[in-house]
Amino acid sequence: MPSTILEPNPARHPWRARDACVAPAIMGGMLDLEDIFGPEGPLQRALPDFKSRWQQLRMAQRVATALEHRETIVVEAGTGTGKTFAYLIPALLSGARVLISTGTRTLQDQLFSKDLPLVAAALGRPARIALLKGRTNYLCRYRLARIGPGGEQLSLNTPSPAADTADIGSTTAADEPTTPSAMLARIERWSRTTRKGDLSEVRGLSDSHPVWPQVTSTRENCLGNRCPEISRCHVALARREALEADIVIVNHHLLLADLALKEDGFGDLLGTADAVILDEAHQIPDLATQFFGASVSSRRIENLLKDAHTEITAQLAHVSPDSGAGALVVNVATAARAVEQATQRLSSSLPPRPARYSLPEMGVSVSSALEELTRALQTLQDRLTDLGDDSPLAQLGERVGDIVLSLDRIAAVDDMEGVRAVEVTARGFTLSLMPFDISARFLSLLRSRRCGWIFTSATLSLGEDFGHFTGRLGLAESPTLKIESPFDYARQSLLYLPAGLPEPASPKYVPAVIETALPLIDAARGGAFLLFTSHRALAQGAALVRACWSTQAPYRLFVQGEAPRERLLHEFRENGNGVLLGTTSFWEGVDVKGEALRLVIIEKLPFASPDDPLVKARIDHLQATGGNAFRDYQLPEAALALKQGVGRLIRSEEDYGTVVICDPRVMGRGYGKVLLAALPAMTPTRDPEEALRFIRKHAPRDFTGAQAATAS
Ligand code: SF4
Repeated sequence: MPSTILEPNPARHPWRARDACVAPAIMGGMLDLEDIFGPEGPLQRALPDFKSRWQQLRMAQRVATALEHRETIVVEAGTGTGKTFAYLIPALLSGARVLISTGTRTLQDQLFSKDLPLVAAALGRPARIALLKGRTNYLCRYRLARIGPGGEQLSLNTPSPAADTADIGSTTAADEPTTPSAMLARIERWSRTTRKGDLSEVRGLSDSHPVWPQVTSTRENCLGNRCPEISRCHVALARREALEADIVIVNHHLLLADLALKEDGFGDLLGTADAVILDEAHQIPDLATQFFGASVSSRRIENLLKDAHTEITAQLAHVSPDSGAGALVVNVATAARAVEQATQRLSSSLPPRPARYSLPEMGVSVSSALEELTRALQTLQDRLTDLGDDSPLAQLGERVGDIVLSLDRIAAVDDMEGVRAVEVTARGFTLSLMPFDISARFLSLLRSRRCGWIFTSATLSLGEDFGHFTGRLGLAESPTLKIESPFDYARQSLLYLPAGLPEPASPKYVPAVIETALPLIDAARGGAFLLFTSHRALAQGAALVRACWSTQAPYRLFVQGEAPRERLLHEFRENGNGVLLGTTSFWEGVDVKGEALRLVIIEKLPFASPDDPLVKARIDHLQATGGNAFRDYQLPEAALALKQGVGRLIRSEEDYGTVVICDPRVMGRGYGKVLLAALPAMTPTRDPEEALRFIRKHAPRDFTGAQAATAS
C-alpha cells in the first residue's frame, strides 16, 4: 500500500524557519519528551489547539522506555490523554520499525492521514509510513481475468441475468452502475491505470456490492507464488511496501492473522518489526479468541463451489468429458454437487429463526447432516487430488482440506476446551469453535517475536485492576500503567441515577425508561444518546418515542438500522440537537465532541445475555472449573462495557453533560458499587430536580425546537 515519506512543510509550520535552533535539536535527538510535550514546545507551536498535559507526557515517557527495552506493557489512557501522540512521537523518535494496529478503520485513517503527518512535520522527523489494509480491499488481477472481459464467468446470486444484461451501461442519477456487469466494466477500466489496486478508488463501489468478492481474493483462494499475476499483484505490492516502511498501520485482524500465521506467502510483517503498538486493545481478547478457534460458514462453502464451477467450466471448454482427463473433471463436478446438496440439507435441518445456538444441543438431524457434509467435502478433496498437482483445480483441494480440518476441529473439541455454536442468519449459517482460554498460546506467540508490545486503550482496567484484560491474554506478569483522564469530570458532568424504575425484567421497564428520558431530553433540548442493550428494547424504545412525538417531533430522531452507522453519526453531529437511539455498536468507538452530545441515557446495565450460548458455555465452564462466573466474567465484562458507554459523553475539556443510568440494580445490588467505581469521578445525584437544573444550565441557549424538527 501507499508508502509515504513525510517531510515537514516549512510553509505550514513556520516555527521551523523562525526558530532555527529547535528543529536541529530534535533531529539530533537532543530535545527530550518534556520539551516536545511542554508549553512552548514544537507541538504547541505547530498545532494551535495543542494543550500541554502531564498525562500525555507520562504515557509518552513510558512508551519510549518500553520501545527502548522491547518490553510488553499495558497502558490504560483515560479519554483526553491524547494517547495517539503519546505513542506516535516516541515511535517516530526511536527510529525503530513499528507496527501500529487499530480496531477501527476510522482510527486507521486518522493516524495515517492526520496524526502521523502532523507529528512528523512538527518534529521535523521524516518517516516512511504505510497503511496496509486487509487483502479483501485490493483488486485480485487473477480473479478479475478469470471472470472475463464481458463478465462471462461472473457468478452472482443477484440480480437475474435478464435484469443484468438489460441494464448494461445504465447508471443511476449519481452515476453509479446499477448492475454487476456495469460495475465490472468500470472496475476493468480502472484496473488498467491503478497503481495501488485499492478498491476504495472505484467510484460507486461499496464493499457490499455483489461484484466485490468476485474481484478480490481470500487467503483460501489466492494462488500465491503459483499465480500467473504475481508480479503485478496488488496484495503482494502492498505488503512489500509495508515491509519497507518505518511505521506501518494495520488493523487487528491483519495483525492477528500474521501472529497466528494465518496469512502467508507475502512476507512476514511481524518478523521485521521492533515494536507493535495495539491501540483500541480492549478488542484483542475477543478477536484473538476467534483467531485461535475455527469457523466454517455456508458462505465460505458457497464461494468455494462458485470458484470450482468457474474452473470446471473453463476446463471442460478445452477437454471432452468423454476423454480420460475430462472424466476426472466430471467427477469433480459430481462431488461438488454433492457438497452443495449436503450444505443445503444442513441448512434446512437448522432452526429457521436467525439466532446463535449451542451446537452440542442441536438434534441428531443436525449432527448427521454435518457428518454428511464433512464426508462430501472429503470426497471432493479426493476427486481434486485425482487431477494431479498441475491442474488449476488442484489449489481448490487445499481450500477444501482447510474446511474439512476446521469441521473436524469443531466436531472433536472437548466441551471443556471451547464453546461450539452455530449462528443462523437470513443468508446462511456459521459453525464456530471458540476456545475458553487462549492465554498460554497468545503469550507464547508474543514471546516468539523479538519485539516490544504496547497494549493501550481507554478501557482496560477496573479501578486499578487490569487482571480481567491481562489474564485473558496471558499478560499477568506485564507492567501496567493507568493514566487518569485530564478532564474534570466532577465539574463537567453529572451522573444521574433515577429512583423508582421497575426491575429490568418487568414488561413495564422500557416504557418507564422512555418516560424518564423524555423530560430530560426536553431539558437538554436534544443532543442525546439513548443506549440500549438489545435490538428488541431499541425497537420498543423507538416506537414509544415516536408515539409520544406523533404530532410534532421536537428533535430529529436517529435510530440504528434506519441508515448506515457513519451516516447517522454524521447527521447527528451536524444537527446539533438530535436524539440517537442505538445498541452495542454505539457504546464504543463513537466520538461526538462538543454540544451536539450533552446527554447519554443508558437503558440497562450491559450484562451479556446468559441465553447466548457463548455466554452460557463460558459461565458453565467457569463454574465447572471452580471459578466464580459472575465475579470473574460477567461483572468485569459489564463494567468495561458500561465504562465504554459512559465514555461517549465527555470528549474534551470544553464538554459538559449528564449520564443517566436508568437500571435500578446499580443502586439496589451489591455489585452496583463495583460498576460505579469503574466509572470516571462524575458528580452523582438521585435528585431529579438537581439533574434537570444541571441539564438546563448546559443546554444551548439559542435553540428553537420547531426549527430542529422542521430541519429534519
Ligand atoms: S497472487 Fe493472489 S491476490 Fe495476487 S493476483 Fe494472484 S490470486 Fe490474486
